[in-house]
Amino acid sequence: MSWLNKLKLGGIRTQGGSKRGVPEGLWEKCENCGAALYAPELDQHQHVCPKCDHHMPIGARERLNHFLDAGSFEEIGGDLGPVDALKFRDQKKYADRIKASQKAVGELDALVAGRGLLKGQPLCVAAFEFRFMGGSMGSVVGERFTLAAERALAERSALVCFSATGGARMQEGLFSLMQMAKTSAAIARAA
Ligand SMILES: [Zn+2]
Repeated sequence: MSWLNKLKLGGIRTQGGSKRGVPEGLWEKCENCGAALYAPELDQHQHVCPKCDHHMPIGARERLNHFLDAGSFEEIGGDLGPVDALKFRDQKKYADRIKASQKAVGELDALVAGRGLLKGQPLCVAAFEFRFMGGSMGSVVGERFTLAAERALAERSALVCFSATGGARMQEGLFSLMQMAKTSAAIARAA
């Protein structure tokens, strides 16, 4: 066997696939200039590319953490999770879409709500998570938003919402549409 064949038979292993030697998710590519960016550094820059100033999407929880005074965030309604009341199915079952989004995004649903401090001033906050089914509003999103609005009203504080939503979540049908009335009513009470 020639030395070349020996090499081909396993003497040299090319790097590729999942054995890259770098933990996955540690590097992100700028979608504008293509620069490879170190993820922790990108997080410090609030997902703005240090090479070309391109603004990349930022997750809801991360946005609130950057916005509020460090360590002051207390979540409201964080234990609420969606249910597939209609046993809805389009190309996929709604129950499967929920599970896939929860796994991919690491959130139970598409809105993160809570309270915290902004330069020492208490306020309530909510941020939509677009990666979770397009930030669509189902029962959980409506309920968390309403809880945050009611808390703001009770504490006479501001409510700041970072909106990034594709609209109503069709998989929840009428339950989703009802959230518009519910959230609008909560805002009207504060006005
Ligand atoms: Zn860039």
